[in-house]
Amino acid sequence: MAPNVFRIPLPLPGDTLRAVNVYLLLEANSAVLIDSGQFLEVARKQLEQSLGLVGVEVGDVSEFLITHIHRDHYTQAVALRREFKSRVRIGIGEKSSFEIIERRIETSFERQFGLLSACGADDLYKEARVFSRGDDEIAKLYERPDDWLYEGMALQIGGRTLDVVATPGHTRGHVVFHDREAKLLFAGDHVLPHITPSIALEADRPPLPLGDYLGSLAKVRQLPDARLLPAHGPVIESGHLRIDQLITHHDLRLRQTYDALGDRRCSVYEVAHILKWTRRLRDLSEMDLFNKMLATFETKYHLDLLVAMGMVIVAEEESILTYSKSGRAYDVSLR
Ligand SMILES: [Zn+2]
Repeated sequence: MAPNVFRIPLPLPGDTLRAVNVYLLLEANSAVLIDSGQFLEVARKQLEQSLGLVGVEVGDVSEFLITHIHRDHYTQAVALRREFKSRVRIGIGEKSSFEIIERRIETSFERQFGLLSACGADDLYKEARVFSRGDDEIAKLYERPDDWLYEGMALQIGGRTLDVVATPGHTRGHVVFHDREAKLLFAGDHVLPHITPSIALEADRPPLPLGDYLGSLAKVRQLPDARLLPAHGPVIESGHLRIDQLITHHDLRLRQTYDALGDRRCSVYEVAHILKWTRRLRDLSEMDLFNKMLATFETKYHLDLLVAMGMVIVAEEESILTYSKSGRAYDVSLR
């Protein structure tokens, strides 16, 4: 990718994303990985093999810098730390999700998917039980990091300086790492080349995650342009270009979501059925269960942002949220 920076795609069998990129920073006396891959035998083997090509062993990795809490980024670091005592760091914003996982006040399933009922998607909620996993199993994968990363930290990795930039949205504690000198942005799932990242699929969901996400896009757009090294998919030469596309997408999506309300009161699920999905403009009913859920949440976050902007009002009827236009003229522009 650049001198002493290597991209290592690790497999995610059964996942439509297919692979997660971890990045090796190789310095004279250290090997650091940005993201770790998922705790899976095939991922471990691939990591060993790829590191071997540059003469590094897994045990030589002294530190893992993790962009966010999702299992395909974090859980292999936890497993390797048990063996090799490597240091693991992740954004402080993820702390509350760790606490929920540890305290088990509610099952993670309820936390993640209970919202579907309020969206009027009870059928999805019932079907979604297939994603319910034992809380003990999840807690085992999610031991805490050694240290937290904070906005504005400058990490010294050999001769390299990485600025930590907090980018909440994909998850609360998502961070990206910016190497100003080498003009590289290790973007995790904040900016992806082929898809719009999912928003707030996490144990501790914030009140207005799309607002957070758009704020984070604007923030990274203000940094000097850099080569974008994403956690899924190929490298993009201009991060700015892709950020502009994502902002345009959400701008259009807000308008479509508003228009879908027509003159009625609608549940989130009803609006999600009116909207078209993916580049192929599919109906919601054509999508698989997991993507139906993501689409329903995505719709809710767009509606909630329209509420915050005063374009839409929300009410609750028999514990289902319903949305309607507020009567104000539409004047939302993200650009
Ligand atoms: Zn993720």
